[in-house]
Amino acid sequence: MIPSIQSKLPGVGTTIFTVMSSMAAEYKAVNLGQGFPDFSMSGDLIKLVDAAMKDGFNQYVHMNGYMPLREVVSEKIEKLYQAKINPESEITVTPGGTYAIYTALTAILREGDEVIIFEPGYDSYIPNVEVNGAKPVLIPLQYPDYHIDWNAVRRAVNPRTKAIIINSPHNPTGSILRMEDMEQLRDIVKNTGIFIVSDEVYEHLIYDGLQHQSILRYPDLLARSFVCFSFGKIYHCTGWKLGYCIATAEWMKEFRKVHQFNCFSCDSPKQVGLSEFLKQEEHYLNLGSFLQKKRDYFLDLMKETKFKMHHSYGSYFVLGSYGHFSQESEKDLAIRITRDYGVATIPVSAFYKKEKDDKVLRFCFSKKEETLEKAVEKLKKI
Ligand code: PMP
Ligand code: GLN
Repeated sequence: MIPSIQSKLPGVGTTIFTVMSSMAAEYKAVNLGQGFPDFSMSGDLIKLVDAAMKDGFNQYVHMNGYMPLREVVSEKIEKLYQAKINPESEITVTPGGTYAIYTALTAILREGDEVIIFEPGYDSYIPNVEVNGAKPVLIPLQYPDYHIDWNAVRRAVNPRTKAIIINSPHNPTGSILRMEDMEQLRDIVKNTGIFIVSDEVYEHLIYDGLQHQSILRYPDLLARSFVCFSFGKIYHCTGWKLGYCIATAEWMKEFRKVHQFNCFSCDSPKQVGLSEFLKQEEHYLNLGSFLQKKRDYFLDLMKETKFKMHHSYGSYFVLGSYGHFSQESEKDLAIRITRDYGVATIPVSAFYKKEKDDKVLRFCFSKKEETLEKAVEKLKKI
């Protein structure tokens, strides 16, 4: 008899990002779907990694991350958020932000625990919770600006609530958490045993002069949080799959127990290169204005299409509504536009457990100007 798997994730198919990128390749469409830049990353950073490889940094690096990288991350955090993070015990370098979130959840969850997740939300959260035997408690963000209804959070909290996952700047909506949101969160979790998993992979990609409300600004929240970051998203090298997690030393011990028998240690030359690169703050302080120009350029071009564009305060993404000109489902329209017009997008319904259809598509504007122009030329024909 051959063995059979009783699926731990029976409802899960292939992630929409892979589905739409495969379709984009099949139809040779302009890909404004999956979130990755099509412009070059920093040549200086490539040179630093090249030098690191030539200097012999090609073997396993410490399982918690190359120490000089952890040190420079800690210094950057102190400068930006006035938080003191111990690079030895409170930072672990991971193969990307998704892995950091998964590892944090795996370290804390037990069967029967509940985790509050906002929808629409990044598609790894729910399976990450379910694979650990815990239950996602889904709270809708309020359409059309996708803010959090904190009273709904208050109603959902109960003794089984183990964690709340937050994400700002937000994928897929481009909304951000404000200081008022953080105050509400502080109020809700004080005197509880609730953990926060904060997905901050778009940390510096925030626009209109707004300030990123990192958990790292709030010592009381930080004391109960796993804060997850991605070098790939920030430095235009998503394929590097490198990020890091911050948590108190006590919890980081548990995080590292899971990490050491999974990935163990991450790409060494890239960590060496990043440890030099991050010493120069212009490499991250100018990212917001760089991406904001792309957002503005794209939104301006999109005025010539039928889509009603939303605003994006951060991330790579902006939403476009189409209910006034088509009643097709988001998925059907996304597929038709890829096939018939040659532009791939992401249906926002993919960011809900039970498909919801507000007739909005997600566009990634983290692209060369010529790519955005080419896409919009095609979208104008709809
Ligand atoms: N969280 C969100 C909200 C994201 O959009 C992404 C992008 N993939 C990630 C986490 C993970 O980033 P990484 O590629 O570093 O795993
Ligand atoms: N975060 C990216 C997005 O939202 C894609 C990541 C992935 O492909 N898993 O498009």
